Amino acid sequence: MLRVAVVGSGPSGVYAAQSLVQQSQVPGVRVDVLDRLPCPYGLVRYGVAPDHEKIKSLQNNLRTVLEHERVRFLGGVRVGPDGLPTARLRELYHAVVYCVGAAADRRLGVPGEELPGSWSATEFVSWYSAHPDAVSDGFVPGARAAVVIGVGNVAVDVTRILARGVAELSPTDMPQGALAALSHSQVREIQMVGRRGPSQARFTTKELRELGGLPDTDVVVDPAELALDPGYADPSGLPAAQRRNVEVMRGWAERPPSGGSRRIRLRFFLRPVELLPEGERVGAVRFERTVPDGHGGVTGTGRYEDIEAQLVLRSVGYRGVPLDGLPFDAEHGTVPHLAGRVLRDGSVAPGEYVAGWIKRGPTGVIGTNRPCAKETVTSLLEDAPALAQREVPDDPLNVLRTEGLSPVEWTGWQAIERAEAELGASLGRGVVKLPDWRSLMQAARAAGAP
Ligand code: NAP
Repeated sequence: MLRVAVVGSGPSGVYAAQSLVQQSQVPGVRVDVLDRLPCPYGLVRYGVAPDHEKIKSLQNNLRTVLEHERVRFLGGVRVGPDGLPTARLRELYHAVVYCVGAAADRRLGVPGEELPGSWSATEFVSWYSAHPDAVSDGFVPGARAAVVIGVGNVAVDVTRILARGVAELSPTDMPQGALAALSHSQVREIQMVGRRGPSQARFTTKELRELGGLPDTDVVVDPAELALDPGYADPSGLPAAQRRNVEVMRGWAERPPSGGSRRIRLRFFLRPVELLPEGERVGAVRFERTVPDGHGGVTGTGRYEDIEAQLVLRSVGYRGVPLDGLPFDAEHGTVPHLAGRVLRDGSVAPGEYVAGWIKRGPTGVIGTNRPCAKETVTSLLEDAPALAQREVPDDPLNVLRTEGLSPVEWTGWQAIERAEAELGASLGRGVVKLPDWRSLMQAARAAGAP
């Protein structure tokens, strides 16, 4: 029998577990899915925007995997030097699949980035998603205008959440503190700014279109700015996805504003060079106007534009972080691998695997993780005869307990779910997420979980 630990219960971890138990090549594989949080689902719970109920409902598919008879969820277990060392984990299981994602955000590297009022989009997302490590700044008090730097799907998410009214946010599972803060938001103008052109934006058309349907909100694009992009003037040579984006923006550029109380402005060919203070906090972002360089990139023009913003969300992508005991490619923020097998100094490290963003970098949608995890599991199953030779404890959970760890098991997670339903009912809302470690652990332990 093969015992496998999967580290991380986001989509890539759960899809890896699913591939391991839904195959017949190596029968009877048992999988423990470890997560440092007491809650499963990774970015599906803590990254997918709360108003995207349909994508969030993917949790139901992930749930069936974690409830499989040969899969166990072990939450609240931190893997690394301040928890369970990776070397110890290797001793307890025949194989370990690291699905730890890309936990940090990329930096802009411009002056003023650290000014109060300037946040990474990840920090904002964590806050409205009730991540227990999130800062609880409130983000919007005192802000009239916001700038979102970057034009990917995360930028669209945070822009949309800033533009939504309380009536639309209240039915979501957003934590009460974030809902209260956003319902008093005075942010009226949100500029989402790309350093390249509209035909090079990274957002997907479905997400882009949604901005146009927000109540009481105008989406504005400047035709002159769009026209700087050769792909905008003649979209016929663009890939279909980009062409659709351009068509949506063309429609917005041609329609008159409806007089909504909020405005989203899509801006292009503006490269952030500095965040400017107003008193102690950020007051504006200085951008340099860019022009296409003919090779898909841009060059600066030496002309600058300051855009007012008391709130700046830097949405320029995620970045993988090294995990102690695992090799790391700092340039790409990934673990070097060969078809999912971890490479140490260029050679395969038997029994160690990666899947998801820590394997391929922070790109793709949730479904991209399925084939990615499958490739990794295929490698693992090929290695299984050799891996199974090694003696491992009968039940690693007993060992973890004797070593002082007390993982939150599935019953503990179910108790958290019940507590969130009860909290929502007490507030006259649906399910409302618990936003801090104390209440999560209290709920989990109340289940009688060890
Ligand atoms: P992303 O798609 O990589 O977009 C990053 C954006 O930041 C790009 O516009 C990029 O511009 C810009 N950028 C990078 N460095 C910059 C700099 N120094 N200055 C100015 N702009 C800079 O990243 P993401 O939005 O964080 O999304 C991550 C992944 O999650 C993506 O695969 C995304 O599709 C996925 N996701 C999907 C959904 C959904 O399906 N609903 C929701 C959220 C996230 P350049 O192109 O010029 O580099």
